[in-house]
Amino acid sequence: MFTLKNLRLLQCFQTRHVLKTNVLNKTNKLSSSCLLVNNRNFSTVISVDSSSDGLSDEQKAIQEVALNFAKNEMRPKMEKWDENEEFPVDTLRAAAALGFGAVYAKEEFGGTGLSTVEGSIIFEALAQGCASTAAYISIHKQNMDVSVQSRLIMCTWMVDEFGTDPQRKKYVPGMASMETFASYCLTEPNSGSDAASLTTKAVKKGNELILNGTKVIVEVCFYSGGGESDVYLIMCRTGGEGPKGITCVLVEKGAPGLNFGKKEKKLCWNTHPARMVILEDCRVPLKNVIGREGDGFKIAMRGLYGGRINIASCSLGGAQASLEAAINHVKVRKQFGKTLSEFQTVQFTLAEMASRLIASRLLVRNAAKAVKERHKDAVTLSSAAKLVATEACFEIASSALQLHGGYGCLKDYPVQQYFRDLRGHMIVEGYQRNYENANWSKSSERPINLLKIFSNIIKCCNY
Ligand SMILES: Cc1cc2nc3c(=O)[nH]c(=O)nc-3n(C[C@H](O)[C@H](O)[C@H](O)COP(=O)(O)OP(=O)(O)OC[C@H]3O[C@@H](n4cnc5c(N)ncnc54)[C@H](O)[C@@H]3O)c2cc1C
Repeated sequence: MFTLKNLRLLQCFQTRHVLKTNVLNKTNKLSSSCLLVNNRNFSTVISVDSSSDGLSDEQKAIQEVALNFAKNEMRPKMEKWDENEEFPVDTLRAAAALGFGAVYAKEEFGGTGLSTVEGSIIFEALAQGCASTAAYISIHKQNMDVSVQSRLIMCTWMVDEFGTDPQRKKYVPGMASMETFASYCLTEPNSGSDAASLTTKAVKKGNELILNGTKVIVEVCFYSGGGESDVYLIMCRTGGEGPKGITCVLVEKGAPGLNFGKKEKKLCWNTHPARMVILEDCRVPLKNVIGREGDGFKIAMRGLYGGRINIASCSLGGAQASLEAAINHVKVRKQFGKTLSEFQTVQFTLAEMASRLIASRLLVRNAAKAVKERHKDAVTLSSAAKLVATEACFEIASSALQLHGGYGCLKDYPVQQYFRDLRGHMIVEGYQRNYENANWSKSSERPINLLKIFSNIIKCCNY
């Protein structure tokens, strides 16, 4: 069981003065001495400068591969992908070749078979190269040890976890190598946060299901060479009202009656464009039902639980990159006769950004470990991690943009892209505050439970 019981945070975490000095004493990196953590999961140190502190040798090796890939294959192209709204299919397949295409899926069908902890480390690293593309990978291959996944990742995992053997054999290997791409279709024009109210209908006719309805803001990946997503996991109503009337159906590209709306113009996540998916008397073989009839909502939600950790991890990577960009900028930008880095308020801002990043990373890795170990509070902890980390990391990106002044608003500066992409993370995978509704059914208990989580974490930390 993962707890924060043995975490040992050393005293300088509390002192902004020490931290700000550490922050500015490095060019791209922050001092590794600012926060020591000691427990059986993260054996030595968790710090801002080196997100590898406390990881096992194997985890460090995985992280290094992901960081190198992010630095060499993603970061140099991230602005171009965003500007051209380009789905980077070659880079995604190169990532899949390294094993990042199906991090959680079983090795038998081409997955990498890693845990949520390694997944979190990978997504944080990849997001430093491009938060939007890292988020896409996390959605495509989502799948976790138990009940927790992220979105595209989600799709591979959903087929791997709930599909029949023939379905697994047919779809998982292609999804793992990203030869085929998948879309997760839950949201509808009138059903977003309240996903169980969806109205897309599926009616049995002979050996087929006939689907009618519309799915919105779906990541449907059209890419050069005429490709588009190959597999659509559609949550649709086969029974009565409510979650138990929903079934998950796999619709293949080219199915009669499967149509698309225009490409949406988005604030964020421009490397994986979104469209409406329109089903008009769309005919699908009955054998394409994933899991049992009526289990669709459960499958969709299980996909989202893990997605929360992955999305939060992508936020960590974007925040780390934003912080480093801000440090580099304030060290060279001069106003009032000195560099911005010489102003104490700027130093305090950086110290706060670093503190939020450290705290978020701890929370996310704690939740990832809880999922890996099937801890009874895994769902709550992953929701708490998503809630806190995506907001904190967006704040970090926002402060980084502020420290760039007007330059931060220019597309030549990457900080605005991290800022936009991280804003989206607060919306996808469900509305932040809904987690509190979902996890603590009695509304009067919600604030108390939230407080309990954080006070337990604080109690476990030995300053
Ligand atoms: C970039 C992007 C990509 C996406 N990709 C996909 C995809 O691939 N597949 C897919 O199925 N969906 C996708 N979505 C949709 C996404 O999952 C939904 O936008 C999200 O679930 C919120 O639903 P909604 O937009 O209908 O907001 P609504 O449900 O209308 O909520 C709007 C706002 O109302 C407030 N609110 C809602 N419920 C409550 C409550 N209970 N208490 C208090 N306040 C509340 C919140 O402020 C919330 O943000 C994507 C969205 C974005 C932005």
